[in-house]
Amino acid sequence: MSKQVITAGIRGANVVVDRVEGKINAAIAKFGADKEVKLPNTAYYLPVIYGITGMKVETLGDMLPVMEKCRQLLADVPVDNCWTPYLGPGLDSGMATLFAFDMEEALKYVEGSPYLDSKEDPEETDADIWLGAADDIILRKRGVEFVDGSAPGFAAVVGAASSPDAALAIAKELQEKSIYVFMASNNENGNCFSKQLVEAEAQVGWNTRLVPFGYDHSAAIHAVGFAVRAALTFGGQTPGDFKGVLKYIQDRVFAFILALGPVCDEQYAAACGCINFGVPVIADTDFPEVLPTGVCTYEHVVTNIPETEIVTKGIEVRGLKITIAKIDIPMSYGPAFEGERIKKDAMHVELGGPKSFGFEFAYSKPLDEVEDGKFTVVGPNIKDVEVGGLLPIGIWIELAGRKFQEDFEPILERQCHHLLNGAEGILHIGQRDIVWMRISKKAVEAGFTFEHFGTILHAKMHNEFGAIVDKVQVTIFTDPDKVKEHLEIARKTWVDRDNRLADMNDETTETFYSCSLCQSFAPTHVCVVTPERPGLCGAYNWLDCRASYEINEHGPNQPIAKGDPMDERLGKWKGVDEFVVPASGNAFESFAAYSILVDPMTSCGCFEAIAACLFAANGIMVVDRDYAGDTPCGMAFSTLAGSVGGGLQTPGFVGISKFYIGSKKFISAEGGIKRLCWLPKALKEASKDMIDARGAEVGVPNLYDMIATEENGTDEETIMAFLTEVGHPCLEMDQLMEMM
Ligand code: SF4
Ligand code: ZN
Repeated sequence: MSKQVITAGIRGANVVVDRVEGKINAAIAKFGADKEVKLPNTAYYLPVIYGITGMKVETLGDMLPVMEKCRQLLADVPVDNCWTPYLGPGLDSGMATLFAFDMEEALKYVEGSPYLDSKEDPEETDADIWLGAADDIILRKRGVEFVDGSAPGFAAVVGAASSPDAALAIAKELQEKSIYVFMASNNENGNCFSKQLVEAEAQVGWNTRLVPFGYDHSAAIHAVGFAVRAALTFGGQTPGDFKGVLKYIQDRVFAFILALGPVCDEQYAAACGCINFGVPVIADTDFPEVLPTGVCTYEHVVTNIPETEIVTKGIEVRGLKITIAKIDIPMSYGPAFEGERIKKDAMHVELGGPKSFGFEFAYSKPLDEVEDGKFTVVGPNIKDVEVGGLLPIGIWIELAGRKFQEDFEPILERQCHHLLNGAEGILHIGQRDIVWMRISKKAVEAGFTFEHFGTILHAKMHNEFGAIVDKVQVTIFTDPDKVKEHLEIARKTWVDRDNRLADMNDETTETFYSCSLCQSFAPTHVCVVTPERPGLCGAYNWLDCRASYEINEHGPNQPIAKGDPMDERLGKWKGVDEFVVPASGNAFESFAAYSILVDPMTSCGCFEAIAACLFAANGIMVVDRDYAGDTPCGMAFSTLAGSVGGGLQTPGFVGISKFYIGSKKFISAEGGIKRLCWLPKALKEASKDMIDARGAEVGVPNLYDMIATEENGTDEETIMAFLTEVGHPCLEMDQLMEMM
């Protein structure tokens, strides 16, 4: 705890309380104790006093017991060096300061209001700009915005910026984030933020969310009063239930103080009062910080922050969650566009996919290394591409958050698919390194640029994952070398992510997870994700689903208590089937996790690869998206995908992730990896380590060499000759035909 801040706060509190006591006594001497005291058009008396203590100040005389309360709260100014400061007396003295300020402002109205009572905005004809206390009409109109989320919070700005332009920049940044700016209090040079804004020709008033309450330090109480009245009006809090009021404001009215320029004792005192409400102070000057002790969400007082960073810091320290009401792109946005197709002749550009390459990747970094809302394009932008063009694409998402865990990275990464698809004129298929996108001509005509990928991801990730994400920065790579370079980095991380589960198995795990993320495209599709069977997109494994459930327990990933086994060979459990029926909208009765022939799992459209039975060869082939040629099952990937996808169960075929090929549970009901008899050459090479390891485990150490590729043939007859020649184990296994 900072001794300097608390000492200054207590010193300031004593000055304020002494001064206000003098003013009350003078007013009583002048007008009598029965003289009415009230703020304009409000049912909340002096709102801070009323909300916290329940005391109704209606006359000057009513101020006397409040003054007594202030005296009880007020700590003595520490006089010697032995005094050990702690937060308690500072907070209490701060509260006394707020009560005193509440009365000091009310006394102004007794003398005749110096403010533009009940006005929302000052007009040019007004002598000054100060609005004073908001009346109940303004409170109801504006307070509701704090409740419905259209205003995420308010910044109480005290003092003055280094120049009018600097003030304007701070105000604009807050306005852009829909945060109200409540302004009061001058600094030691007599400057104040409100006047600087007026000088910079900004329009101040409730309508621009730049609210000039007053020039004096005491006028800052109108910001606190507004918050307290919001707690009473919208939060249903009872006057006098100080714990309830403080808690409501801490949890619901996200406010922070920006202290600009030198801070005086009275401002320290008021700041100590505000900390009671969970309102932290961020200052641009250098004085000792006050570290977390549990009253505010995070730190209490953070200092020495440059003006250009003070807004971001305030948002971060207050733990304020930014929601972006409108996604600022030139096309429409909404779930209705998720299923939109973009045909070749409607397309302006194709990104990634089979004719080029692309990826999307999200990872987290420390908070100070991510610049929220920064979108960069490295390589040609849309204006550089002719109609019908083709580019590689890399979507590089950097995330940061106080509560973010590395485990959440894959979940956020996997959102790209539905988030980008929500935009009219954007088609997104795939994930990780099989991303394939199209942008429509119409979108480009409307003004779409690659930065808008950032706009969408930034807005939606804040809105949907605000609890864990504080900052989102997006870089779009279209320069081929840059895409390749970053893809390599991403691939290393994916390998690590996939391998995290190495020590887990399905037998000893009681809880599996569902994934219904793809139901927006394939309404009957559910992935049942087990430790040994990742989602067919390859981007969600068991750990990811568990983390996703932690983030949102009502989200697309639900725990499934697997229950008693019904058939261990097929991978059927009672709990899984009970789950699958309602989750598939009654489309399916039973799922077998390990079988391609009996009740195989459904396939949406995101599969990294498709496994298919080759009955003549008595084996199984796998083909991935990158291979466009013919396959021994008679269909190329694209044709296969058309008949396997869409949320159907198609015995003989199943959509899988590439990583699943290396799992002990890879189609184990039909004999597993020993059945694998054909792969595209590139996929075979990429899977060599997995195949070698599994081959050795099942007693066929040279399995890799026995698997045919397109070089050995693309029809069953031709590869049969090869399989016979090498003695592939599938030829000796139980007849697939008879296992159906
Ligand atoms: Fe979830 Fe399966 Fe879709 Fe992957 S493919 S996102 S695991 S439903
Ligand atoms: Zn899918």
